[in-house]
Amino acid sequence: AKAEGRNTYRFFEARMGAEVRERRMIEHDLRHAIARDELRLVFQPQKDIQNGTIIGFEALLRWRHPLRGEISPDVFIPIAEESDAIIDIGAWVLRTACREAATWTKPLMVAVNVSAVQLYNTNFVSEVHQILLDTGLPARRLELEITETALVRDFNRALAALRLIKTLGVHIAMDDFGTGYSSLSNLRAFPFDKIKIDGSFVRAVNSNGQSATIVRAVLGLGRGLGLPVLAEGVETSAEMQFLRDEECKEVQGYFVARPADIASFRSLTHGDVRD
Ligand code: C2E
Ligand code: CA
Ligand code: CA
Ligand code: CA
Repeated sequence: AKAEGRNTYRFFEARMGAEVRERRMIEHDLRHAIARDELRLVFQPQKDIQNGTIIGFEALLRWRHPLRGEISPDVFIPIAEESDAIIDIGAWVLRTACREAATWTKPLMVAVNVSAVQLYNTNFVSEVHQILLDTGLPARRLELEITETALVRDFNRALAALRLIKTLGVHIAMDDFGTGYSSLSNLRAFPFDKIKIDGSFVRAVNSNGQSATIVRAVLGLGRGLGLPVLAEGVETSAEMQFLRDEECKEVQGYFVARPADIASFRSLTHGDVRD
């Protein structure tokens, strides 16, 4: 029986080994990523297509592993969330993004992604407050992007946290709208300032009638609720034209600019205020 157990173990070890080792490696190495200076932020502009101006930038996290090279946040963020490493990493992201935005001569927004684990941490709101004080960034220039999957785990706690964040004057955007389970009731229940339509709908508007219908409906919903809607993942001029025709106000995507080092956007962050 003992030998059999060992064989079973070996079977799983062989099958799962590589994947588990990869996860453990990421989990372990992430803990040192901040101290070893392996993390950085790139920024992607958000544009008002009705008046042609840049409204702000979304900060996106990048990790260059010393051996593996760039690892996608879609891979390491979920692992960071399970191991609670996201608490320190999220704080680093928030502080770094606010410190950067505070140096811009134009009063643009900076949007920062916040994971559920951060939101449910009891220190989160005071941490946001402290970071604003330390960096000197006015609260109204900070927007936290939160997915609804972050909210459904503990409705009351999430609502309490978001309400407190709002009292600071910080904005809140619902990220990846349309991909969650109950977008509409969450939209009503939580104090959002903006809806971000997920790129998967936007990128299908010209080839898929249902996506076009969904995007139109979300834009109508935003108008009805008095909430600005930003369309994410805009890649082509055809998508942009569709959004203009439908009177979408804000866009973000490769068609405007890919995420990049903030220095490459200097003419936007430090430009002549008249534009
Ligand atoms: P997200 O918040 O939905 O961010 C948008 C993602 O779409 C980014 O991927 C961005 O680079 C990409 N993107 C932007 N424009 C286009 C486009 O036109 N076409 C396509 N195909 N993609 C576009 P990225 O940077 O790889 O980030 C992936 C996800 O990782 C983010 O999705 C977000 O959920 C998470 N993430 C990134 N940075 C952070 C962070 O600092 N904290 C947390 N908690 N999550 C983060
Ligand atoms: Ca986002
Ligand atoms: Ca998104
Ligand atoms: Ca996403």
